[in-house]
Amino acid sequence: MSYVMFSDDCYKFYNDNNIVPSFDDQSHRHLFDFVSMDLHQIEVLLEKFFSEMFDFTRLRLKENRPAKRFNDEYEKAKQSAGILNLTDYYVGNAYLKKIISILESSHPYYRIGENSRKATEDIVIDYFHLFSSYNEDFFEKSDDYIGVFKELLTVPPLLCGYFTSGRTEKLYKKYLDDYNSYRRIIRKNRKYEARCFINIVSFQQMMNELLFRILDTSTPVISRLNIYDRIWFYKRMQSKKTLSDAEIQKLSLASKKNSNLPKGKEFAKELYTFITQFPLHEAFQYDFTPACGITLIIPEDGNDVCEQLGAESLEKLLEWEFMKMVKAGVRIKKCENCGKYFFVRDNKNNYCDREFEEERTCLDVGSDRRFKNQKKDDVYYTAYRKACNKNTARLKSKTKAITEEGSLKNWRKEAKKRLNAVYSGTAEDKERFYDWLDLSNVEINDLC
Ligand SMILES: [Zn+2]
Repeated sequence: MSYVMFSDDCYKFYNDNNIVPSFDDQSHRHLFDFVSMDLHQIEVLLEKFFSEMFDFTRLRLKENRPAKRFNDEYEKAKQSAGILNLTDYYVGNAYLKKIISILESSHPYYRIGENSRKATEDIVIDYFHLFSSYNEDFFEKSDDYIGVFKELLTVPPLLCGYFTSGRTEKLYKKYLDDYNSYRRIIRKNRKYEARCFINIVSFQQMMNELLFRILDTSTPVISRLNIYDRIWFYKRMQSKKTLSDAEIQKLSLASKKNSNLPKGKEFAKELYTFITQFPLHEAFQYDFTPACGITLIIPEDGNDVCEQLGAESLEKLLEWEFMKMVKAGVRIKKCENCGKYFFVRDNKNNYCDREFEEERTCLDVGSDRRFKNQKKDDVYYTAYRKACNKNTARLKSKTKAITEEGSLKNWRKEAKKRLNAVYSGTAEDKERFYDWLDLSNVEINDLC
């Protein structure tokens, strides 16, 4: 049995009651890498796989599908007298192998035991189930159905023990249970595409939505709300109810605490722009109540109460990890170099510390880039430097257009202050920064 031990800011994953954790995570790195992985390749691979194996119009296995193959070792082993375990010699389907390797590179969970192979089987069955559920006659004959998907999962004939006991029957039952609801949705609304039902792909999209809408500090408008207001707002978007003036006012007041950005009507306008720009897809309904999970235990060698979660799927692990992030008030943003999420410790930093190229992290690359860009593209700084040089020249020139060094010092101090206000976004009006740079000699002399 696999399980996860959560502490306040990290978790450890244990497989089969091992004493040493199989992997751990202190900064949600595995979750962030998982959501940025291109899982859509899986759909392409599935389509290729099924076009070789199954005819969905006639609902039967293709006659010319690739034959099951055994490797060279098998021929040799057959010569010897002992009993053979066929799975040791079986050459798996290349498309399914590729799916397994994609999963294994997406999260360390899939590199443990049989996790990636089981997930791949589920994905194949999901896809098969969806397409075959267009045809009731076929679906309701369970013998045929199980026979076909055993064949699809390329289980060698008459092979016992390849699946854990009763697994095919369990899979069949699961899809039979889901079938009626699937059928209803499909008939009602054809816009639902098969891909919505490839569990791991839709789960990944869901996770991306949650991170973006609840924890991402750079999300327009709503990043100014606290996490719980963002969750409330998410739920309102799901229910598609319009917000009342009082509710907008409440959110606006909450956002005001964090910044001096627009409030009231202006805020409502921004909120509705956000709703139009980022509509919430029906597939991303989420109620923030993960199913049964965490038990509290006191380990034999510990002096603390630990939270233990039975982790029979990656979905369950990540869903709880997300809820723990909500509880801890974690803030995240996307790295400006590699585009992946990272855990924000310092709000000014826009780069993660993943290794980007040989011995250089995104943070290293980012600091170089920031330095260069500052010099090149910073119009405010350029204008400020130019004005400083001009006024210093006036002080030093023979005509002495600026007479007092003290006045110039005061002017420069205020200019610097206004420049910083422009940088921090607290300047009321950027034009007023330029006005200050353009003060006449007489005005500057008056600053003494
Ligand atoms: Zn990065």
